[in-house]
Amino acid sequence: MTDACIFCRIVAGTIPAQTVAADDRFLAFRDIEPVAPTHVLVIPRTHVASLDAASDEQLAGLLAFVRQVARETGVAESGYRTVINTHRDGGQAVDHLHAHILGARRMTWPPG
Ligand code: AMP
Repeated sequence: MTDACIFCRIVAGTIPAQTVAADDRFLAFRDIEPVAPTHVLVIPRTHVASLDAASDEQLAGLLAFVRQVARETGVAESGYRTVINTHRDGGQAVDHLHAHILGARRMTWPPG
């Protein structure tokens, strides 16, 4: 946990979030500025700065949790997009590893 990290504070419960799913390693909650009808963020409970800093095991666990949350939120069958923005050019605004789950509308390509 780092005090400055907004997602660590959500894990700690000092900032409110709309939790969708949780286990001992990961937390899923609704994005505060959704860009799709379903827009959920999945994060590790421990502070990991980015995909680039994550271990193979953390990444495998994160993706497995993404798949579970997609099923539980009802977008698995219709489809969804998983986005992990990394560092400046990737558009990462919060330096705590997180996967976006975007669904319940048709996605377009290429992304902006
Ligand atoms: P990224 O650009 O990939 O780093 O995405 C960060 C995401 O975190 C954005 O979609 C924000 O809307 C979202 N976000 C920032 N603060 C909060 C918060 N307190 N609760 C939920 N989502 C947040």
